[in-house]
Amino acid sequence: MPQELIISISGLRGIVGENLNASIAAEYAAAFGTFLKRQNQRNEKLVVALGRDSRPSGEMLESAVAAGLASVGVDVVKLGIVPTPSVGIMTVKLGCAGGVVITASHNPIEYNGIKLLLDNGIAPPKDKSAEIKNIYLQKQFDYVASIDCGRMRCDDTADEVHIEKVLSIIDRQKIADRKIKVVLDSVNGAGGRPAKELLEQLGCSVVPINTEPTGIFAHTPEPIRENLGQLCDEVKKHAADIGFAQDPDADRLAIVDENGNYIGEEYTLALSAMQVLVSQKSDIAANLSTSRMVDDIAAEKGVKVIRTPVGEANVAEAMIEAGCVIGGEGNGGVIDMRIGPVRDSLVSIGLVLQLITDEDKTLGQLVGQIPAYYMHKEKFAADSAQAEKIIAAAKAEFADAKVNQSDGCRFDFADGWVHLRCSNTEPVMRMIAEFATSQAAEQYIGKVKKILGTIVG
Ligand code: MG
Repeated sequence: MPQELIISISGLRGIVGENLNASIAAEYAAAFGTFLKRQNQRNEKLVVALGRDSRPSGEMLESAVAAGLASVGVDVVKLGIVPTPSVGIMTVKLGCAGGVVITASHNPIEYNGIKLLLDNGIAPPKDKSAEIKNIYLQKQFDYVASIDCGRMRCDDTADEVHIEKVLSIIDRQKIADRKIKVVLDSVNGAGGRPAKELLEQLGCSVVPINTEPTGIFAHTPEPIRENLGQLCDEVKKHAADIGFAQDPDADRLAIVDENGNYIGEEYTLALSAMQVLVSQKSDIAANLSTSRMVDDIAAEKGVKVIRTPVGEANVAEAMIEAGCVIGGEGNGGVIDMRIGPVRDSLVSIGLVLQLITDEDKTLGQLVGQIPAYYMHKEKFAADSAQAEKIIAAAKAEFADAKVNQSDGCRFDFADGWVHLRCSNTEPVMRMIAEFATSQAAEQYIGKVKKILGTIVG
């Protein structure tokens, strides 16, 4: 039985040929176009920026999405194979009413998806995405007659625009003078071409691995430790200063140090924030599952950490509200508002290289400067009724903790925290625990598991 197509806040995701095909993509795009037209008070001709990652199914879905938008009278600017953050940047730059990215992010090749952005480059909030989903399910498409069909054009300037923005917030010559050697693993996704170009403009000597946008992923695409063995080996082999790994749509970045050690995705935001706070007095926004490292960095600079529910749009909205320059998520997704409101591997590459240069230290030395924590992540089956009971029992158990209930429940203790939350897409609950030591973490994990045993069995 093919799985049900997932339509969530950030768009739609499915398995191509099973529950995702051209007609679904065209209707979903027609629903988005219809929604945008309903929002359009001034009745002007609307334009949507459309980009995709490198998956082999991308071209087929791109044509379908473009047709769906044009069928309701919306013009389309095709950006081609570009990182997700580039679509956000171009949506704003070109004054588009919205953006669409065809990507399934870090999911394997058989998946693809359609991610929607509003005119500010951010995914629609809950109520608006529910409206789009409703138009799609009810098939209330506002199709137009021949003369009013949307027109299509191509724009190949996204790399240039995006790179120029990153270069504008870093010291290109200073980084170039340091002659940094970088191994870049783009998993044959959308990020290879612009990241290579950015690194070359920064005078780096680049060893590219998996940087062709074929969409034939050279390894399991999520940029986590177990998938980056090749990158770690190449860094050692070439005696490089640093290794960068992007996910297929290049919104996440993971880093390998000069000794070939994968340092963990949590450090991408921590290091980027360290760099930004040198010149910017800004609070940091981070989701509830992100490491306390950002709290330590913020405390040192006398700024606050604003904790948000998990999800890029939640972080971006909090950043706008509080005027944050820097924010993001612990999975390697860094948002720098000077570039745009989307998680962006290119900006974090620039910031980390600037940090190495300014501090005149190796990456390993910089990592050693940040207090380290032990983090444990786990998920278990639990429906929403069970999840509610688990959280209630955990609140009784951890009565002395500081509690944040904006997304599940996060319990903060003096020496660490535990976050329990439900997945948006499957009947599972996630537990993330971070403490100064693994022994301390185990104590709290044990208590949660005991609760779990009595409720789920
Ligand atoms: Mg991604």
